[in-house]
Parts: sequence; structure tokens; C-alpha cells
Amino acid sequence: MRGPAPSGSSGSTTPLDAARVVRPVPYSPRTLAAQVTATHGPKQKGPTRFAALDQPAQWPPTRGRIRPETLDRSLDTLPGVGPAVKRKLAKLGLETIRDLLEHRPRRYESAVDVRRIADLRGDDEVVIEGSVLTTTERRRGRLKILTARVDDGSASISATWFNQPWLAKQLQPGTRVRLRGRPGRYGFDVRSFDVGEVDATADFAPVYPASEELTAKKVRELVGAALPFACDLPDPLPAVVKARERLPLRRDALVALHRPSGEDDAEVGRRRLAFDELLRLQIGVARRARAREASLAAPLGEPGELIVRYRQALPFALTPHQETAIRELDGDLARTVPMQRLLQGDVGSGKTVVALYALLRAVENGRQGALMAPTETLAEQHFLTVEAICRELGVSCALLTSSSPKRERDMALHADVVVGTHALIQPGVGFRDLAVAVVDEQHRFGVQQRKALAEGRSPHVLHMTATPIPRTLALTVYGDLAVSEIAKPPATRKPIVTAWITEDRAGEAYTRLTRVLDEGRQAYVVCPLVEASETTLARAAEQEAERLRRAELRGYRIGCLHGRLNPGGRRELMARFKARELDVLVATTVIEVGVDVPNATVMVVQEADRFGLAQLHQLRGRVGRGAEQSYCLLVSRAKEELSDTAQARLQALVDTTDGFELAEVDLDLRGGGQLLGTRQSGLSDLRFAKLRADRGLLERARSVAAELPDEGLLAAEVDAVFADTDPDALA
Ligand code: ADP
Ligand code: MG
Repeated sequence: MRGPAPSGSSGSTTPLDAARVVRPVPYSPRTLAAQVTATHGPKQKGPTRFAALDQPAQWPPTRGRIRPETLDRSLDTLPGVGPAVKRKLAKLGLETIRDLLEHRPRRYESAVDVRRIADLRGDDEVVIEGSVLTTTERRRGRLKILTARVDDGSASISATWFNQPWLAKQLQPGTRVRLRGRPGRYGFDVRSFDVGEVDATADFAPVYPASEELTAKKVRELVGAALPFACDLPDPLPAVVKARERLPLRRDALVALHRPSGEDDAEVGRRRLAFDELLRLQIGVARRARAREASLAAPLGEPGELIVRYRQALPFALTPHQETAIRELDGDLARTVPMQRLLQGDVGSGKTVVALYALLRAVENGRQGALMAPTETLAEQHFLTVEAICRELGVSCALLTSSSPKRERDMALHADVVVGTHALIQPGVGFRDLAVAVVDEQHRFGVQQRKALAEGRSPHVLHMTATPIPRTLALTVYGDLAVSEIAKPPATRKPIVTAWITEDRAGEAYTRLTRVLDEGRQAYVVCPLVEASETTLARAAEQEAERLRRAELRGYRIGCLHGRLNPGGRRELMARFKARELDVLVATTVIEVGVDVPNATVMVVQEADRFGLAQLHQLRGRVGRGAEQSYCLLVSRAKEELSDTAQARLQALVDTTDGFELAEVDLDLRGGGQLLGTRQSGLSDLRFAKLRADRGLLERARSVAAELPDEGLLAAEVDAVFADTDPDALA
């Protein structure tokens, strides 16, 4: 493969072919594709340099000027979109024409052969055509199975649909159907289908993420209706960059994305859109770096006597990873630019020890350190750990949460080390002299909250996260943020054994659980994740605890931990669990981070398919914290009920306990967005970039960002991406 030519020398050899890749395909709006191609041909040689210097301030409007404002029109301006469809589209996050244009097909269905039913062999994906003889509906557990007997003259077969009972109406006897799928456990597993005279199902076609009410086919139609508006899409990328990086016009890229002539064509379109995303991100990163270098912090010098005593007080020697992190941190603290360092390490890798080190560095300089945790449970846990060591060292330490009374609060703010929740950053909370702030699980805080901690002061900030960010990603996307990693848990720990079972076998999970409990170990049972209020969640957890007390776990001591318990109650419950007065803790996701009970060696996660990969990994980290072998049992709904990605998530957890590997899988499955659960990273805006596969593209975007003479037309787009982000803090 030919790489892009080095900058400056590319002019005469630059192929503009990439801009021509869009070809009309059979069912595309031909006129549009032709028009788009015509506007930008015939091809010319590109200039050798940026033409920025002698560019007029404003180009005269041309005939047929583009109208970017039409892209912001609501989708009900399209034919076929009434209030009901509009509502359904909104559920998919699609509100404007631009949203629909940028709605990325999840995959492309390749063309497959049409087969006679009598000739069906093996389990290749094929299309069959025939008419419906009869339909039947039945249930298996919560699974609703719809079966239609379909006959094509050569033979008949039972075609099955899962959980789509409403289809029964459409499949009256005699109806002609075209079914795409493969022979399976229940006859013919239908993946997509046409009813009546339509037949699109066997062809190469984009497949969109669909919802229950809005079929992929409907989305496909609507995208077709929106596609002509791609002509109104501005393209802020300098032409010479497009030429050199062999990128098509943005509007052509969109046409290629939705109406490709083949996989390659679609990929060229996707790459262009991915490049734009990555470039915006890189420009934003550069802005952030400039802003940070402009603020000042007091340098903290060399570690002193308190640190020597701290090291002696620890019951273990620090691991080489921890030592390296500390060295890096000391380097930052000695500078006048406020530290912005990300300490990332898998759950249980020992980040807290490093965090406390940073806090004590502030204290030995006569100043203060603060540790901010995202939940009260976590803050309390941290406080217990930190306070024990502080007491030994003669350092004052206080806890400050929203339930602390006013008087306690004022005292707390004078302590050497203050541990708390976002109560630390409420208006009117004034520290004596904050020098170092540690933010735990930084991605759980909003930008505004993290900003408020640094308000009016420039403390050195250490962000901690257990959500592993793949190294290359961290270094490229978070360009200006220093990263320390502590990846190795102490050697005595055994990897957690993870099993994935379906509900019908949940009984076995509990049998296994009681066996371990009888050996004196403890366990967690995590309740299903439902979209509900904290109160509903709490009630569901209480009910589940009650059910287990009467059924599978009769005779064992069961406690229930949820977000509705008051802090005192929660602390007491955790203390009882830690003291082994309880065998099992039934919990909501409040136990996700921080809970540390080494004797708890089993975790059962109910309806595990509802959780995200990162979240399951976090939950699993609550076990495997001692020397004993630990187990994690993921209980899911029936496999037929699960999406492909849900299955892939669960399988990945069974396959590995390595957080970095899981992060990579998560990247692949989710396409980058939401990796950190952040808006502020700009990462959640990555719809097209595949961070793993696009590493080369990311590097290109980085170097283009560095060489652009100014942000030009891109500035506005970058502003939009980083609109609510914090230029100083980790984004
Ligand atoms: P994290 O915050 O990264 O999840 P913690 O800091 O809570 O991890 O550490 C997990 C456990 O490992 C704690 O019980 C801690 O005391 C212990 N630990 C930390 N560092 C070491 C070390 N170097 N050697 C042995 N045990 C350690
Ligand atoms: Mg921790």
C-alpha cells in the first residue's frame, strides 16, 4: 500500500482519485451521485502548499450555494416522517437531517444466494422465497417464539422469529415472503426479511442500528430521503490536505457511506468522516495544552521526612509500577505548571497508595491535599484507608460529604488531608491551602465539578481511573496529559475464573455459590440494571435479597446494599460484611468501585447482558482481591434474546481478565464513543473512527493538526465538539 506523500513535495504527484470514488449504485438516487461527482470534476493537480496566505477573506457566493442550515432542520420535514416516526427516530438519537446523514450503518449486508428449501445444507446465510402456510406462537420462559411454516414448492420449513410477536399479523397464510437467515436450532433463523412483493433482502445493503419499532429497512428509506441534503454539507478541510491524505469530499463520503457500491467504497467514505473526527480532537488537544502551560502552581520540591515515614508505615514494599508512577509524579510536582496526570490501573492494582503519596507531598510542604470520590460509599471507603495511615503519621484527616453538618465541614477544611465527595466543591467550601487534588474515577465527575475543585487556585491534579484506556489511545487522544500506568496486581493473586450461564441454569450458579460460602468465603449478588429511580432500584434489590433468603440462599446471612441507605447505615452494613457477620451482599451497582473485602470470592451478576463491558469489568474487580481463587458468574437471558454485541461482551469477559484487552474489545464493539462515559473527552463523538484499526489515521490527523497554519474553517467545528469541556482538566 502506498503511504501518503511527505508534506511539501506532494503537489505534482497527488492523485485526486480518492475524491472520485463515489459511483452511483443501482438503488441510489443516481442524480445526486452524478451531481456530486460532476461538481468536483474534472480532476486537477493540487497546489503544492496551503494557499492560506493570499486567500480572500470571503469567497463570492457561487451559483447553487450550499445551505448548511438545512441540515439542522427537524426530521419531520422529510416525507414519510410524522409525529410517531419522529418520536421513534428521536429514541435513536436522530432529530435533524444532519443526525440522519451521520447515522452510521452498523455493518453492510453482503449479497447472498437464493436457495430452494429442498437444497438447504449446512449453516450458510442464504435467502429463501416462498409463501406462508401457517403461523404459531409460543413462549419459552420470557422468550416469545413466532414460527411460520413456509413452502416454496420444493419443500417447506419452519421459519422462526424471536420476540417479535407483532409480526404474526403480517404473516397471514398465503403471504409471499423472502427470508434471509440460516438453518438453526428452531428450523430457519430469520435475520431479515421482506413481506409481499419487495425484495431488497438478498442484496448488498447497509444495515442500520434499529429499534424495535423502527426497522432497519425504514431507517434505510429515510436515509435515502435525507441523502440529497448531503450537498449542503460544508467541507472545512483544506483541499490540499484532502488531496494529500487521499480523502474524498465530505459530502461524497456520506453518499459512499450510505449508498456504497461495495465494501471498499463504504470504507473510503468512513475513513474521511473518521479523519474529520480525529482531526477535531487533535486540534482540541493542542488548544488544551496551550491553555494549561499558561497557568501557574507552586512547586513542591523534593520528598522529605514524612514520605520516608510513610514508606516505612506501609505493610508492603511498593511494586516497581508504583515506584515508577511516584517518580513521574514527583517530577510533575517539582514544576510550576500544575500537574495534570492520569494514573490508570486496573481495579486492585494499588492506585490508592500512590494517591496518598501525592497527598502527603502537599502535607509535608505545610499545605493541603484533597481526595474526591464520586460516591459517598467510595469516599467513606477511601477515608477509612487513608485515615488509618494518616493517624499513624500524625497527619490530620477529615471526611466531608453532603451529609456532614456545617460545623464539621468547617473543621474538615482545615485538616491536612480532606477526603470527600463533590461536597468538597460546593460554593462556599474554602480550603485552607490546597496544593494537591486527587480525583478518583475522574470520568464519573462532570467537567464543571472537576473545574470547580481547581477554581481560583491551581492545584496539582492527579486523576485516577480503573477504566483502562489503551495506551496508544491515551497518548494520542489525550496528547497533553501525562499518563502513569500501574497494571500489575500483586503476584499472589489468582486470575478470577469467569463463567457465563443463561438463566435456566441459574440454579447451578447458586449451588456453586453455597459450596463456596460453606467454606467460609463471602459473596456478592448484583441485581439487574434497570432504568429506574434509585428508589425503585433499592426496592428491587430488597425484594431480591428477600427472595434469596427464602429460596436459593436459605440459612445464609444476607445483607442488602443500595443507594437509598443513609451513609451511616451503609457504613455499618459494609463493616458487618467485612467482619464476616454477613455471608452475602445483595447489591445494586453502588458496589461497582472501591469496595474491598478480600474474603469475598464469588460474584453473581444477574441479567449481566444489560451491563456494559467496562461496568462488568469494574464489578468483577470486587472479587479476586485476596489470595483465594475467586469466581464471577455472569447470568444472562437466553442467548436467542441477546444481541450479537451483548454476546460478544459476555464472551470477552469469560476470555480475559485483562482490562486493557477488554478496553480494546469495547472500542471495537462500541466504536470508541462512550469509552470513558464522557462527553468532555470528545471521544463520545467518535462515531466513525475505529480507534484500534485507525491508529495510522490518528497519527495522520495529529500531524495535520500540527501543521495547519491556523484552524480556519475547522475552528467552529472544534468549538462545537469541545463546547462543554474544560480546557485545563483532563478531558
Ligand atoms: P485500586 O485503588 O487500584 O483498586 P487499591 O489501592 O485499593 O487498588 O489496592 C488494592 C489492595 O492491594 C489494597 O488492599 C492494598 O492495600 C493492596 N496493595 C496495594 N499496593 C500493594 C503492594 N505494593 N503490595 C501488596 N499489596 C498492595
Ligand atoms: Mg481504589
